[in-house]
Amino acid sequence: MLASASYAGSQSSQARQPVDLIVSGGLIVTMDGKRNVYDDGSLAIKGDSIVAAGPRNEIESNYTSEQTLDARGKLILPGLINGHTHVPMTLFRGLHDDVTLDDWLRKYIFPAEAKNVTEEFVRWGTRLAAAEQIRGGVTTFADMYYFEDAVAEETKAAGMRGVLGETFIDFPAPDNKNEAAMLSYTETFLKKWQGDPLIHASVAPHSIYTCSQKTLQDTAALARKYHAPILIHVSEMKKEWEDSQKQNGASPVKYLDKLGILGPDVLAAHCIFVDAADEKILAERKVGCVHNPSSNMMLASGVSPVPDMRAAGVAVGLGTDGPAGSNNDLDLMEEMDLAAKLAKITRGDPLALNAKAVVEMATIDGASALHMEKEIGSLEAGKKADLILIDLNRPNAVPMYEVYAQIAYALKGSDVETVIIGGKVVMRDRKLLTVNELEAIAKARDYKTKIAASLGIQ
Ligand SMILES: [Zn+2]
Repeated sequence: MLASASYAGSQSSQARQPVDLIVSGGLIVTMDGKRNVYDDGSLAIKGDSIVAAGPRNEIESNYTSEQTLDARGKLILPGLINGHTHVPMTLFRGLHDDVTLDDWLRKYIFPAEAKNVTEEFVRWGTRLAAAEQIRGGVTTFADMYYFEDAVAEETKAAGMRGVLGETFIDFPAPDNKNEAAMLSYTETFLKKWQGDPLIHASVAPHSIYTCSQKTLQDTAALARKYHAPILIHVSEMKKEWEDSQKQNGASPVKYLDKLGILGPDVLAAHCIFVDAADEKILAERKVGCVHNPSSNMMLASGVSPVPDMRAAGVAVGLGTDGPAGSNNDLDLMEEMDLAAKLAKITRGDPLALNAKAVVEMATIDGASALHMEKEIGSLEAGKKADLILIDLNRPNAVPMYEVYAQIAYALKGSDVETVIIGGKVVMRDRKLLTVNELEAIAKARDYKTKIAASLGIQ
């Protein structure tokens, strides 16, 4: 019995293809085209990519690896995609809440940024955000801020994937004081990161209400010269929509389309005030949209018509926005839960947006919104090995009748146990391996004292 077992073993090991890592024996929710779910599944990983995903016995008879991760009792999901945020702003978390967006920006954030945002600030804010996002199962995020090259360096050091946009705004920013300086900084930034496996350097004109037509067109031209993504806030405020009607005789979406900005390289955050004609344009131009339910609720901005956009064929992802003033955390699991519930209460219909839809938005649809669906968003052969393991041995994880409902409504970001990005383990059994979390936490407290003093508050 023993002899024949070892004989069979050595036979099959000769035929088995060597890989770098096998994640073995978990409940795999692949989010692939067929939405395959494997109760007792395994993944074979070579380099930074997935070679195969399937039933454990199939994977184990075809692949062999010196390194195995035991995933029994765990849920395995594609890494979550945070489609819109401003990570260095973690250091402004809770600076001032429960005010209007206008007051928050003009009385608190713009002065706080002018006095405090340096490259060093951006580095520490990004490290803190990396720790928080990895802990919550986020493996890719899209960011818009200043000193974005420093964001990129820290993101890469943390082993995370980022679509990172240097912000353009028609007033002096903390890093660049005019459009010429912004263009030159961003061109250097785009050149530096070309071909990087983790970092997608991008161009981020802030919005139509802070950028002139010239700025919008110059930024789009620069992005297109380097095949870089364009990140922009679109139709996020009622006032923005009303002003656009007055000044441009068109909605923000139609105005941007008229300027030639919209295309299959654009990631539009919010898209709250959009009608059926706008949705059609967004779908035709293959613009990716990002819904940010926490932020939209916290600022009372309005509700994006997510079910209609999805029905119109627009790729809609999920984002946290914030993390200061409009959220204030980077927990994408929470956004899934809120996205479904916000759609339900707004439409008075519990079927408006279901659990499976919001899991799609956090994974494969988020990848499509970022125009990265060939690279990430699902667990299948050829995709990057970005995955998270969630502990199912917890009171809020049992019993489980339906896996998508469990993910959307019962599991929490804090249930994430192990995170792999591009085949590299960045968190194992809740221990962060790429970020010095304690140092980042201590620095965040130091920054609070400094920022409060700069604004004359305690
Ligand atoms: Zn934003």
